[in-house]
Amino acid sequence: MDALRRNQYLQTMGVDVWVSRHPPAAAAAATATVAAETAATVAAAAAGPHAAEVAAAHAAAATQAAQSPAAAASAARAAMPDNPSAPTRSTARAFDSAAPQASDVLPAVARGAGAPPVVTTWESLRSEVLACTKCPLHGSRTQGVFGVGSREAQWLVVGEAPGAEEDRRGEPFVGRAGHLLDAMLKAIGLSRGSNVYIANVLKSRPPGNRDPKPEEVAACLPYLMRQIELLRPRVMLAVGRIAAQNLLSTDAPLGRLRGKVHHFGELNTPLIVTYHPAYLLRTPSDKRKAWEDLKFARSVFQTLNPT
Ligand code: URA
Repeated sequence: MDALRRNQYLQTMGVDVWVSRHPPAAAAAATATVAAETAATVAAAAAGPHAAEVAAAHAAAATQAAQSPAAAASAARAAMPDNPSAPTRSTARAFDSAAPQASDVLPAVARGAGAPPVVTTWESLRSEVLACTKCPLHGSRTQGVFGVGSREAQWLVVGEAPGAEEDRRGEPFVGRAGHLLDAMLKAIGLSRGSNVYIANVLKSRPPGNRDPKPEEVAACLPYLMRQIELLRPRVMLAVGRIAAQNLLSTDAPLGRLRGKVHHFGELNTPLIVTYHPAYLLRTPSDKRKAWEDLKFARSVFQTLNPT
């Protein structure tokens, strides 16, 4: 990162003084070893009190894939990345915003022996989410909050659940925390308008912004899993404990999940964990650590082979 961009970031994040964690030589060495760390570091999913619910949610996603031809098609596509009939990112012009766009369709196609193609699309998934009544939160929400950003993005950011503003506007991260998230992403060259997709674990707002209940996560997580199947991100950033723990099926505290490369799903997508922007608004002294996380995530992305 050049000095100008770093200063812009620090200013946005309200950090006055920048002190590198590494002396220059060590910093260069750290950059050089990221590739090795990326390959070597795999998170161990620790068992814990919520492990059963989270495992159930992951199992529900798998079951849903098995029961729903559309999801099964998508899963098959993921399992056969070289399938020439599988659509590539370039086949779709796609962008998610609060307003649905009829043309935004990314089909996931699988062909069985003699069977017609089965198709799942962003739009059908979005419609399912917006009409969902699987948990009681549908009764108190204004609307479901599906996701936002480019459906061709290589980056996926996952948060916890919509807050009041998101519930009102139907778009993730549009309140104060969202503004901070946008600034953080901008500092590493990402924007919801072009090259990142943003979604939450829960698609409905929990009243009073309380933590999601395990049964709400169990009902909603399959939607996120299907978004991930459609997007096939190259790197994922989990912001906050709830997103990190649920994606990684662990109860480990956030502090233990930061600073390493986890791997998500069958595609072993690199996943990095950082603080939730709402937490950073309350605890600005940790913005510096969030900045380390973002730089780390970017360096991991840069070590990936080009598509
Ligand atoms: N916090 C989240 O985790 N997600 C949002 O969309 C907004 C606030």
